[in-house]
Amino acid sequence: MNEFELIARLTRNLPSHPSVIAGPGDDCAVLDLGLPGRYLLFKTDAVVEGVHFLPETPAEKAGHKALARCLSDIAAMAGTPHSAVITLAAPAGYATARLEGFYAGLSETARRYEVAIVGGETTTNPERFLVSVAMVGTAPRDRWVSRTGAKPGDALFVTGELGGSILGKHLDFAPRLAEAQWLAEHFPLHAMIDLSDGLAGDLRHLMQAAGVGAELLARAIPISRAARLLAREPADAHPDRPAKRSPLQAALADGEDFELLFSLPAAEAVRLSDAWRSRFPKERLSCIGRITPEPGLRLRDHRGAVTLEAHGYTHFGDAGTDAGPG
Ligand SMILES: [Mg+2]
Repeated sequence: MNEFELIARLTRNLPSHPSVIAGPGDDCAVLDLGLPGRYLLFKTDAVVEGVHFLPETPAEKAGHKALARCLSDIAAMAGTPHSAVITLAAPAGYATARLEGFYAGLSETARRYEVAIVGGETTTNPERFLVSVAMVGTAPRDRWVSRTGAKPGDALFVTGELGGSILGKHLDFAPRLAEAQWLAEHFPLHAMIDLSDGLAGDLRHLMQAAGVGAELLARAIPISRAARLLAREPADAHPDRPAKRSPLQAALADGEDFELLFSLPAAEAVRLSDAWRSRFPKERLSCIGRITPEPGLRLRDHRGAVTLEAHGYTHFGDAGTDAGPG
């Protein structure tokens, strides 16, 4: 059973409440607790040493990542973060300096994004250091964005550059809060998600939530420098890293980009591209494809379109090694 099948099984029959606007299955829960003009967003996320960061990762960076992952999910709803509580579990005798470093990194990021740390819990875990962050935020009642609203004909956009986050971005990323709020304020977004499982994986989540398909243009996918660097290294250079793939394969499949993927009516695409360039001149925004009425995920290059299978990126071989500049 994979992670998503497990989640589906565990969340099959959970209690709900009339105030729950969106429950399991979106980036955050959306709750109507009577706030004037706004809904409450509620989110939890955990990082585990040896999984999301390594014992040799600087503790401050791990602390940043723990908080920023939640911030990225608040961004995916076009929300504003508010406060968080932290649960920390460490093996007995775990270095106190490392825990302090973790909290320093976490606190600095909280300060930067105006998030209050309002409580927490410390316990022991015999095996590994792990931290769980629970966060609340808010979003305007008439402007929050779910995963579920993609419509056939929508243009698909992605912020930033994709792939190779294992070379550093997964610890250093800036959650796209300002960008998401600006997008929702000025454009009729139909659906949005943050990229934690890789472009192809998270796009499938959008597709499944709306019962639609999508077609990506290989040349339009913004491939990061890190993805290109990884592709140039010898296959056995990093046994702990994913098997050697083309830069395009990395951009499609690598996790933890923490960029925004969203869809909106195609008629808005040009206005959005122009407005983005003047508002965020240093950040990339790419129109990478469209939502289709027929299900399935296709990738189009100069040779035509191929269907991407859920776990089979080898289907298009090296189609992406020359996917265009930058
Ligand atoms: Mg998410």
